[in-house]
Amino acid sequence: MPESTRRRELGRGERVLPGVWRLRLPLPWPGVPHCNAWAVAAGAGVVLFDCGLHEPGSRAHLERALAQVNLKLEHVRLLVCTHAHSDHYGQAADVVDASGCELWMHPDHTHMRAGFDDPDEALARRFEVARQSGVPIEPLREWSASARDRGNGIARLVEPDRELVEGVTIDTDLGRWTVHETPGHAPSHVCLHQPERRLLVSGDHLLGRVSLYFDYGWTPDPVGEFLASLDTVQRLDARLCLAGHGRTFTDVGAHIDANRALVAERLERVRRAVAEYGPITAYDIVPLLHGVQLSQLTAGWWLPETLCYLRHLEIVGAVRREGGDPER
Ligand SMILES: [Zn+2]
Ligand SMILES: [Zn+2]
Repeated sequence: MPESTRRRELGRGERVLPGVWRLRLPLPWPGVPHCNAWAVAAGAGVVLFDCGLHEPGSRAHLERALAQVNLKLEHVRLLVCTHAHSDHYGQAADVVDASGCELWMHPDHTHMRAGFDDPDEALARRFEVARQSGVPIEPLREWSASARDRGNGIARLVEPDRELVEGVTIDTDLGRWTVHETPGHAPSHVCLHQPERRLLVSGDHLLGRVSLYFDYGWTPDPVGEFLASLDTVQRLDARLCLAGHGRTFTDVGAHIDANRALVAERLERVRRAVAEYGPITAYDIVPLLHGVQLSQLTAGWWLPETLCYLRHLEIVGAVRREGGDPER
């Protein structure tokens, strides 16, 4: 869709179940047109799961989506973030400021904090990882400059009032939700489960359309963690998934299997690339994995993904790090 058309999209709200509303919020990202926040009735107000990215005009989209289902920011009794990515946490400051509510989030959010504590250092670190992975210097400089201009999509750093870890529960009119730590996509990722109604707020761990992203460099093995988190969610046996992007979906088990299958397929492609081509950089593996070269648009997504597969294969002993500069 052309940029001009896409940018005219507005925040929209719709009821998906009695007491559950989907707030669809536009994103400025190619290929990811919107994200969801989920409002769940709780007494005189709502618990809000996730809150969308912060950028000029984003708060109006959130307020518009809420207004369409007769809600206001002031109705938010509690903000729960599934993870500390900007499209799920970016407007936390707006929500907390407008409603006076608490924010609950997992404590392992250093991956988000790093961009605040020292944005230049965080960017320099990503630059160095990419350079070490074989990305040519000129396009990398371009990417780095535009990343600086884009900003981080987060209004202001808000520390959680409560750490969202196993054992914490969230009370709503639809019953009590339990917290399940599901790292992999991001170290801070959790899913929220309502066992009687078999509902799952899945963030970016499970999406309607299988889409894999892993934060690289914060935990030992994001791919291994993601696979373990799929097991965690499978055990919950949820019936309806309220995901961070896209529509609700049922057949949760089939989605879990599809994620496992895609991870296995991509791991195998990476393993085969190394077996066939010998010492190879992560940058050179990307086109063998995705069929096209890394571009400015895909760099921030596919490079960490590839590095995470290599890391996992290294841990299970299927590939070996040769070192060098760039590293192969
Ligand atoms: Zn995410
Ligand atoms: Zn997301």
